[in-house]
Amino acid sequence: MDAKLYSRVTPEQVDNPDILVFNRALSDDLGIDTEEITGQILSGQDLLEEPIAQAYAGHQYGSFTVLGDGRAMILGEHVHNGNRYDIQLKGSGRTPYSGRGDGKATVSSMLREYLYSYAMANLRINTSRSLAVVETDESIERRQTEPGAILVRVMNSHIRYGTFQYVASRAPGELEAFTEYVIDRHYPHLNNSDRKYVEFFDEVMEASVEMVVDWLRVGFIHGVMNTDNMSIDGETFDYGPCAFMNYYDEDAVFSSIDKHGRYAFGNQQKILKWNLERFAESLEPLCSDSTVTFDEIQAKLDSFEDIFEAKYYTMMRQKLGITSDGAEAVVDEVLDWLRTSGADYTNTFLELENPGSFDDPIYSSPEFEQIQEKVAEVGLDENLMKQANPRYIPRNYLVENALTQYVEGKDLSRFKALLNVLQNPYESNEATSRFQEPPPKEFDSEYTTYCNT
Ligand code: AMP
Ligand code: MG
Repeated sequence: MDAKLYSRVTPEQVDNPDILVFNRALSDDLGIDTEEITGQILSGQDLLEEPIAQAYAGHQYGSFTVLGDGRAMILGEHVHNGNRYDIQLKGSGRTPYSGRGDGKATVSSMLREYLYSYAMANLRINTSRSLAVVETDESIERRQTEPGAILVRVMNSHIRYGTFQYVASRAPGELEAFTEYVIDRHYPHLNNSDRKYVEFFDEVMEASVEMVVDWLRVGFIHGVMNTDNMSIDGETFDYGPCAFMNYYDEDAVFSSIDKHGRYAFGNQQKILKWNLERFAESLEPLCSDSTVTFDEIQAKLDSFEDIFEAKYYTMMRQKLGITSDGAEAVVDEVLDWLRTSGADYTNTFLELENPGSFDDPIYSSPEFEQIQEKVAEVGLDENLMKQANPRYIPRNYLVENALTQYVEGKDLSRFKALLNVLQNPYESNEATSRFQEPPPKEFDSEYTTYCNT
């Protein structure tokens, strides 16, 4: 018999839920009446319908595993102004997929996810968004004991490559109906095409490539690109062990369990291809009795590198303010310089745009002057650069600092100051220039991030 794709679940009872942060811009997008919002509602204590936990599978660090929402519950789908939103609670208690986990989350990890998703959205990167963090009065034991918290997460869809892997392996009789459902909900313009499965694969690939190229643009390291964390809408999600790169290093990896750098900054393109291969395999059974063949999906996969490279160079040209096509050699020289100098990735582009912005000897070296001259010959269009290069990213040390201040002193002022800066990451502001400083190198060389906290 085909396995079930979800289970009905009930959020655990919490006493005195306390709203720590609430995202007004997102609630406006959702058309929610904020007057009505309480900690009770945001922690799932006051429900209209029984939530669901989704079943899914995934390749975790290369190994196939059957999983599901172990600490997440989807409250339902909300439609506003023609947009569909899945509203989910993370950290609201155990589900049938929790295994030995407690189904809970610590307040620091949920504040961390809130902040990263907020930054990514304002960096104009396709991402899950966070409506609120609600603290509970429970104690959660992880590396340290902390209050528990629930994050209200909003995405177009929580369906992942791994959901397809689950259906293909555990509920193969549902694969066609499931794929039709996903196309109808999320790629409805493909509904009437007789090549829709190939086109669906192609569009998922395109959305995912755009997402990862955007990560490379801002120095984002997702940290846990398992296929269960890859959305079919190209939305960045599952902000666990993620981090931003400061000093340019393609091997940069911060996750405590990523010992071999599988998900390192510079490996994200290759891993995306690998993940798409797994996604393609889950669609293969659909190709046998339809008008499309798996060769057509394979041909799309074969074009991955060309598509990725083209989008990558377009993105890098924008970062360098190059309005023409080509100039790959200049982009490559800048990358070479970044690799050998290990300069701060974000600030290097700001320095190129506005020489003298940073008082760092690395930018007075003859090597950098050469780079400046070469870029000046073909690029430095200010408008392009201002749109592509953030002035602010969530610097790892500032994030940790803000979280520590809250966990140790119940003080959210640094956290809120960071949110404030990250509200407009493309706009410079003299008053907040200290948020542009990279950490001491030793900080990043020891910085470690964690899954499932
Ligand atoms: P990933 O998202 O790839 O890191 O995989 C983590 C899996 O473990 C997901 O299926 C989560 O739902 C589950 N999980 C993480 N933390 C917990 C927890 N505290 N309790 C139960 N399940 C968890
Ligand atoms: Mg996950």
